[in-house]
Amino acid sequence: MTISTQIGGLVYLITLLLVRNNSPRYRLKRFTTFSLLYLITTILFVPIIAPIFGREKIKKFEYVEARTFMTDLMNRNYVRPELNTSLQKIATGLDKKYPGIKLVYLDANFPFINKFPLLPHLSHSDGKKIDISLIYTDENGKLTNKKPSISGYGVYEGPKPSEYNQIEKCLDKGKWQYDFPRYLTFGIINSELTFSEKATKDLIQEILKQPSTGKLFIEPHLKTRLNMKNQRIRFHGCQAVRHDDHIHFQLK
Ligand SMILES: [Zn+2]
Repeated sequence: MTISTQIGGLVYLITLLLVRNNSPRYRLKRFTTFSLLYLITTILFVPIIAPIFGREKIKKFEYVEARTFMTDLMNRNYVRPELNTSLQKIATGLDKKYPGIKLVYLDANFPFINKFPLLPHLSHSDGKKIDISLIYTDENGKLTNKKPSISGYGVYEGPKPSEYNQIEKCLDKGKWQYDFPRYLTFGIINSELTFSEKATKDLIQEILKQPSTGKLFIEPHLKTRLNMKNQRIRFHGCQAVRHDDHIHFQLK
């Protein structure tokens, strides 16, 4: 629980102290107490404590939304204030170009403690990192905020036969985890969607326009397909996971 939500383990320990082992309906009481305490902590206390660690919740407004409410419920939506400012600007820029199209975020960082990694993203440990969904068109060719995976991960815009295939190279090196998020979709939805090269490229350009943006990761074949040459777009390495289902970027 601590690994997936950071505070879950601690809340569970408090629950064990509060609910006596010999009380009738122990399991039910333990479950309700835990859920209640977890919700209260997540909604009321974590946002108050996070600024001590230099982080705050991602500010949602018209143009910024989470792919799934689970991201927020599991406290995976904390960033440094500077990144929050960037997100607002990127989303506003995107909406100007494509009215109604939102910046959809996936995993960011936990609220507390540097170097506490947010698995499976080893580097999301300092409040500076965030993953963003690619943009798609619907069956009528219109841009949409829908995404092809419930979690936002694991449905890939893979290399075409003529494109450079980094995925094969990493898997050949025995890096089995490279492809692992295909098991973390929590369900594949909206199969009618098509990857929008143009809107995704514009989104990446908005991200790179921010002076605070450091590195940005997408899979090499997508960088080539979108014809992008910016030095800050890097290959993340085979020890990471593939980045043709989302964009990762980070503060300098
Ligand atoms: Zn990432």
